[in-house]
Amino acid sequence: GGSASASTIKQVKLERESELRIEVCNETPLKLRLNGSAEIFGSELAPEMWLTFPPRLKFAVFTWYGATIEMDGATETDYTADETPMVSYVNVHAVLEGRRNRAKALSPNDSEASQGPRVIVVGPTDSGKSTLSRMLLSWAAKQGWKPTFVDLDIGQGSITVPGCIAATPIELPIDPVEGIPLEMPLVYFYGHTTPSNNVDLYKTLVNELAQMLETQFARNAESRAAGMVINTMGWIEGTGYELLLHAIDTFKANVVLVLGQEKLFSMLKAVAKSKPNVDVVKLQKSGGVVSRNAKYRQKSRGYRIREYFYGLANDLSPHSNIANFSDLLVYRIGGGPQAPRSALPIGADPIANPLRVTPVNIDRDLLHMVLAVSYAKEPDQILSRFVVLS
Ligand code: ADP
Repeated sequence: GGSASASTIKQVKLERESELRIEVCNETPLKLRLNGSAEIFGSELAPEMWLTFPPRLKFAVFTWYGATIEMDGATETDYTADETPMVSYVNVHAVLEGRRNRAKALSPNDSEASQGPRVIVVGPTDSGKSTLSRMLLSWAAKQGWKPTFVDLDIGQGSITVPGCIAATPIELPIDPVEGIPLEMPLVYFYGHTTPSNNVDLYKTLVNELAQMLETQFARNAESRAAGMVINTMGWIEGTGYELLLHAIDTFKANVVLVLGQEKLFSMLKAVAKSKPNVDVVKLQKSGGVVSRNAKYRQKSRGYRIREYFYGLANDLSPHSNIANFSDLLVYRIGGGPQAPRSALPIGADPIANPLRVTPVNIDRDLLHMVLAVSYAKEPDQILSRFVVLS
């Protein structure tokens, strides 16, 4: 990195409503100490304590009232910015807060009225969707709510390994280093990093997840009032756009936050005309969002998978289980061999069923693949039996 230099402490004074944007060096962690009050993506930092941030992390320390930051270690970049969209973000939070309070005050027997905001965050890749989701969740948790976080981003999701969609309640502001807690996530395994591999399967899993949450909400007035924040993929063209509409409908989202794209905003605004309960809001993208190219994203998926098994600081040791091949059944969903025309009714086309569950041979082709364990008793239940990965 450019400004890399050995262990010298650098002090930065932050004026009110400004932020220090940091990209930690690729090889070494960064230590940081706060004086005053500041937050990282909605989560307040403990003052007067040295905190350690792992290599490659990109974040901003934002202060509402002013603070002094000390940094010990090398960074790729660090600079202060006084133009941020934070005021507009916190205003959105205030509106959501009002809706939660209203939902809570209403009779829990009226499941419609006692439903808090269901927010979906949409926009192109690298528009700050995950970051905004995180802020809204942390600010809500700070005020005692337990909102549900739904992550539909199978490429760069923040709940579990890439290739999954997942949901989890957020009970405390999200730790800037540790990320989303993994105590009780609801995880559906899709098994690819792009939905175009099997759009039907992606939609089916989104439906399953939404239904499961609906069941949980029905018997939990507290989480119903707190509502949800749904993070989506950056794929917003063509099929990607259809998948966004599908997610909005499936989760019955009533607030759509559009980050950094005028066209997407006006398209969704037009769609919402026929849906009186859906508010579509345009928000400015933060200048601090770091763009990541395809190669970088692929690399960070690799790191995520590694982190899942070995921990953020290499502090986990996954234990291995030995099993006979004959005790394991491995299945693939969709993409299996097509039925020959001769085996089909006359006139039918041999289109592969995207949801067909087919057995897979255990051989070298499975090396270095991530599989998920299913609780299904029968192969045809695999789609509806979610996977617990944690
Ligand atoms: P998206 O979800 O739209 O792809 P992210 O929210 O993941 O975008 O943001 C991309 C990257 O930019 C992340 O590494 C995130 O931590 C970083 N980032 C976002 N906002 C800021 C900011 N204000 N300052 C520094 N880094 C930021």
